[in-house]
Amino acid sequence: MSAGDRTLGRVTVLGGARGGKYPHGNSLLVAGTEERVIVDPSLSLVDRADLPAADRILNSHCHEDHVAGNHRYPDAACHLHELDLPGLRSLDDFMAIYGMSDAIDRAFRRTVVEDFHFVPRPDALPFRDGAVFDLGRCRIRVLHAPGHTRGHSLFHVEPDDVLYLGDIDLSSFGPYYGDAWSSLADFVRTLAMAAGLRARWYATFHHVGVLEGRAAFRERLARFAAVIDDREARLLAFLAAPRTLAEIVAHRFVYRPGDAVLFADDVERRSMRQHLDRLAAAGRVREVEPGRFRASG
Ligand SMILES: [Zn+2]
Repeated sequence: MSAGDRTLGRVTVLGGARGGKYPHGNSLLVAGTEERVIVDPSLSLVDRADLPAADRILNSHCHEDHVAGNHRYPDAACHLHELDLPGLRSLDDFMAIYGMSDAIDRAFRRTVVEDFHFVPRPDALPFRDGAVFDLGRCRIRVLHAPGHTRGHSLFHVEPDDVLYLGDIDLSSFGPYYGDAWSSLADFVRTLAMAAGLRARWYATFHHVGVLEGRAAFRERLARFAAVIDDREARLLAFLAAPRTLAEIVAHRFVYRPGDAVLFADDVERRSMRQHLDRLAAAGRVREVEPGRFRASG
């Protein structure tokens, strides 16, 4: 155990550096009587001297910060949802999940290898919604929760009643659906599903950490989900005058104008394109001339 760790029955939350703020994160160690599972080995485990042993890795999804410590468990079986599984085959397959533009792809590829220690796991095994891992007097049940990525999944640990939320991270940044393998529509459905989930403990990968009780979870979840509506309301206000997608990207709705994020333009473009499509389908935005969009009415 290290100072930032927290025990919840058979679950130990391995507290990440910077409270789990990106690029770090909080991994989970689940110890049954027969097997031990490490969930989302984070960057903070890479140099950890008292690294806990594990028989299996479960990855909630295929993103750089959630697989950064996978290579420290070369002999453990590695599992993730079948829809994200292709991402662990090779670096090219991994980068396809983001779908970045060429120059950004080249730069981020280096970051993924040098800073996040990406090592392919072509031997990784697929799971699906409802899969159960029996660790001995302790079980982990998979809940498919797509949107952030296609295969993003939650894990419910019984009997300790810990629900691991992965990157439904309940942060003030809000839901992230800016990659090629992300979907705003799926994320909205997943958030509605998550609102019905009951557990004693709710564990997030990033800095919000662990919440106790459904009331605290529901309150944070509602605020998290409201960020989607806030982005959309700001977009509609901006579209009082006709705007191009390039102007929308430059204005910044996901990141703040000054945020120095390598892939910000790609993420803004992909995220706000989905909002544009959603608003157009609802008749609230019209393409008034090719490539220019304005709020209706
Ligand atoms: Zn992620």
